[in-house]
Amino acid sequence: MSKVKTGDKLGYVRDQLAELKEEGLYTTIRSLGSAQGAWLEVEGRRVLNFCSNNYLGLANHPQLVERAKQAMDRFGVGPAAVRTIAGTMDLHLELEQRLAQFKGVEAAILFQSGFNANLAVIPALVGKGDAIISDALNHASIIDGIRLTKADRYVYGHTDMDDLRAKLEEAAGKDYRAILVVTDGVFSMDGDIAPLDRITELAEEFGAITMVDDAHGEGVLGRGGRGIVDHFGLHGRVDVEVGTLSKAFGVVGGYVAGNATIVEWLRQRGRPFLFSSAMTVPDTAACLASVALLEESTELVDRLWENARYFQSGMGDLGFDTGKTQTPITPVMLGEAPLAQRFSQRLFEEGVFGTAIGYPTVPLGLARIRVMISAAHAKEDLDFGLEKFEKVGKELGVIR
Ligand code: PMP
Repeated sequence: MSKVKTGDKLGYVRDQLAELKEEGLYTTIRSLGSAQGAWLEVEGRRVLNFCSNNYLGLANHPQLVERAKQAMDRFGVGPAAVRTIAGTMDLHLELEQRLAQFKGVEAAILFQSGFNANLAVIPALVGKGDAIISDALNHASIIDGIRLTKADRYVYGHTDMDDLRAKLEEAAGKDYRAILVVTDGVFSMDGDIAPLDRITELAEEFGAITMVDDAHGEGVLGRGGRGIVDHFGLHGRVDVEVGTLSKAFGVVGGYVAGNATIVEWLRQRGRPFLFSSAMTVPDTAACLASVALLEESTELVDRLWENARYFQSGMGDLGFDTGKTQTPITPVMLGEAPLAQRFSQRLFEEGVFGTAIGYPTVPLGLARIRVMISAAHAKEDLDFGLEKFEKVGKELGVIR
């Protein structure tokens, strides 16, 4: 018998929404009345921004804005179709070349987002008769990319290299055509770095293809923000680097960089490339300005790290638990979701915008406020944030 209730076919959705609210897991989205930056206007109030992935402060950088305007004067706004049908603009090709150069790889191909890049590359590379070996805490877009394939799946414990070896041995004992090992570079909720050097060695030993999602590594790790492969000195040994243009690069878009054969294959078989329109003109042009800024100087990357060290050491001195971060991502571990939501609300009242993150983005009982440090923050901004964390932390009994 069908359980569909005639007259209330969406009752089950309403029930699930009510459940989220009861459990303190309902997400509310604040609306911004200003550009991204160290400070934001949120619902009419000026608040310190501790939420965005604007690592280098480029989201509202005058050079990006200018470059976008110039490009729109020449190319208009929209790409008007998918690239394989309507042709590709010079701008897209130029950005692909510049990104490949910046990352020190053979080739690169653009997508509309990092999420789409993951959805493109995983199903293009593996399918029935292949295996994927994936870190247990990989990003949702990697998980969804895996779900789009008929490849066999193996999940290894988070950054557990003994377990990765065991899974590689298990897969190598079967008759697979290809084995793909995939990991986030920097894990976005905890800020820890994947041991990509050891992952690469293990993959090489078993002849597996290596793929890293460098969304939170580029603009952050490596020389001048060249990313995790540069950080570990693994140039030429990692087959696929997925990148996003929405974080350190300050715009929106995604790409796959790496082995030229793989990039060529994606132009033929990457479904979001073939069936979804290209990045817009202003986005593409603004990204060209981002790459130029990153190539010109390491100043912004250096400032990002200085800020991160300053804030994290201040939080440690106050007695907060910032988990196992190795990057500017600063999780402030609070435990249960309702406490994290209350903390976030009180911070907001005090003029600090720091979003609570709970299940299913992080495991139950590990709710947190994730502070995202940026090169855009001045030292006084970080001091203001520390002062408010201290005040609210004491008030809610998180620190003494
Ligand atoms: N991969 C990781 C690890 C991410 O954190 C994100 C963004 N949350 C993405 C991919 C998706 O990037 P984009 O916003 O460009 O779709």
